Amino acid sequence: MKTLRHTDAVIVGGGWTGLLMAKELTARTPLSVVVLERGASRRKGEYSASMDELDYYIRLRMMQDPSQETVTLRHSRDDRALPLRQHGAFLPGTGTGGAGEHWSGIAYRYLPDVFELLTRTREKYGVKRMPEDHSIEDWGVTYNELEPYYVRAERLMGISGRAGNLNGRAIAGGNPFEGPRSVDFPNPPTKIPYLAAMFRDAASSLGYHPYALPAATISQAYTNPDGIARPACTYCGYCERFGCMIGAKAQPSNTLLPLIARQKSVSLKNDCWVQKIVHKDGRARGVVYRDSKGAEFFQPADMVFLASWTLNNTRLLLLSQIGEAYDPATGRGSVGRNLTHQVAAPAVTGFFEKPLNRFMGAGSAGVAIADFDGDVFDHTGLPFLRGGTLYSVCYGFKPMTNFGVTPPSVKARWGPEWKRAALDWYDRTGRIQLYGEHLAYRGNFMDLDPVYKDAFGQPLLRLTLDWRDNERRMAEFLTAKAVEIARAMGARQTIPFAGLKHYDGTRYQGTHLQGGAIMGASPERSAVNTHMQSWRMPNLFVLGASAFPQNPSGNPTLTAVALTYRAADAIVERYVKRPQLL
Ligand SMILES: Cc1cc2nc3c(=O)[nH]c(=O)nc-3n(C[C@H](O)[C@H](O)[C@H](O)COP(=O)(O)OP(=O)(O)OC[C@H]3O[C@@H](n4cnc5c(N)ncnc54)[C@H](O)[C@@H]3O)c2cc1C
Ligand code: SF4
Repeated sequence: MKTLRHTDAVIVGGGWTGLLMAKELTARTPLSVVVLERGASRRKGEYSASMDELDYYIRLRMMQDPSQETVTLRHSRDDRALPLRQHGAFLPGTGTGGAGEHWSGIAYRYLPDVFELLTRTREKYGVKRMPEDHSIEDWGVTYNELEPYYVRAERLMGISGRAGNLNGRAIAGGNPFEGPRSVDFPNPPTKIPYLAAMFRDAASSLGYHPYALPAATISQAYTNPDGIARPACTYCGYCERFGCMIGAKAQPSNTLLPLIARQKSVSLKNDCWVQKIVHKDGRARGVVYRDSKGAEFFQPADMVFLASWTLNNTRLLLLSQIGEAYDPATGRGSVGRNLTHQVAAPAVTGFFEKPLNRFMGAGSAGVAIADFDGDVFDHTGLPFLRGGTLYSVCYGFKPMTNFGVTPPSVKARWGPEWKRAALDWYDRTGRIQLYGEHLAYRGNFMDLDPVYKDAFGQPLLRLTLDWRDNERRMAEFLTAKAVEIARAMGARQTIPFAGLKHYDGTRYQGTHLQGGAIMGASPERSAVNTHMQSWRMPNLFVLGASAFPQNPSGNPTLTAVALTYRAADAIVERYVKRPQLL
């Protein structure tokens, strides 16, 4: 194994969190930084040839290769875990920019009470009302403490939307349930596609409070505080699972990479697959990685950052034997605990009279309601805690993926009658999605699989994950509300979501898995402090949604980016001067 020249900081992973940390460190300090990214580099202009549904949307060209590394899955400790040989429930990204290249761009802030979920829920409902085997935790940081970093994250990406709560003042047309914003969004809301406008009007007629989704697919040309200019979205509909060909969708490659490329003190190395963190006497010494030819290198560093996304962060900690691995039998150990996956489902498919032009849109062009989110509604008599949002997004429905959905009145499943019906209904079918919270439970966790290994011979990560009645009942409740809205939109026939049964590794549910290295105010109950710093190893920082103690209803990226900004401030302003526990 070859030992490379020492660097001040090594960052594992070149997505939103890794590249933002690299940018902050090199723009604000003289530190040298090496970013190791296991996937390929991305060239400007590459995406203009990428609008190919088969290659990108169906064959998942931008995702991690599951034949090299995957995870195993089981529902409980009594089951045998089996490897996921194909992508299904989630789509791990790879290559420069990570999943931030092919994300949809829905950029939510979390509700304020999410950050103090244990305290608030216990106070309001009492311990007896909480699920028996929950392991809900507070985050150790409050919404108000994070608010300035949310502002920075929104400005970095140029998020489009309308405030619903500006310094405590209600603003018509925004989300009235959101936490107070100190400033409005940097850009006005996106255009609202036809189906989403129908959803908006129907939701209003029922007394709900629709608002435009906060969108990283920007509504107008925008220059961010770093001087990076991006054009307005053209609503081509090739956002999710694609890189934006004109750069309207905020991606690490179009917001952070141009700045990093200018810095001499940072080197971004592709095809470098990190295998473990080397440590001694309570300090990280660097990382070992393999290049595309299989050659092994040791990259020594004073600071190590894991920015390789929830599952990879957790796996690297376990492979490197850093921190105490979580033991579900005793509840001891913090690495691997509180695995959650946002509850996401097509709440209802509605069949309409008029064409909906669903082929146009953008990944985050849509309308939502938060009337049943978190604890903003009365739960008296309801058999579950917390809630979720409902939305109608027109992300650009693709013909190969979406063709063939017919209403219940069509009985044929093949042949000329089915073909006629499928064509007839193709552009008259619309969906309302539900996105709900997933509480943390003692029995949902990650550890190393004792049987299955990756292409390099290292144990795969094993997920033990299943829904509880709290999520099942919440999804049922949200589905009924969505059906009510679909009817008010004029849907003649509907297919409601069949409900959550066991966790399904084959149905795509969004790539919003969280936990494994959760943050908190005490080393007994968390793996990292509120600056993403390992309690056990002060020169190791673990960035991203692995730190989220449970899964709020909103999508995670804006919060992961806000927490990265907060960690960067603490490192630049304090840690660099005195390298110790922050
Ligand atoms: C199709 C899709 C749509 C999405 N839509 C939304 C959305 O609308 N809103 C939202 O908030 N979020 C969305 N997400 C999630 C969002 O993309 C992620 O939250 C975000 O990109 C996470 O950033 P990250 O830096 O933590 O991790 P990533 O973007 O996953 O980056 C991690 C990087 O680390 C690299 N890596 C991993 N292991 C190693 C290793 N051992 N050695 C070296 N490198 C390694 C990976 O190759 C990857 O490039 C979506 C995700 C997908 C897949
Ligand atoms: S819809 Fe807009 S943001 Fe999405 S890929 Fe097309 S131009 Fe880019």
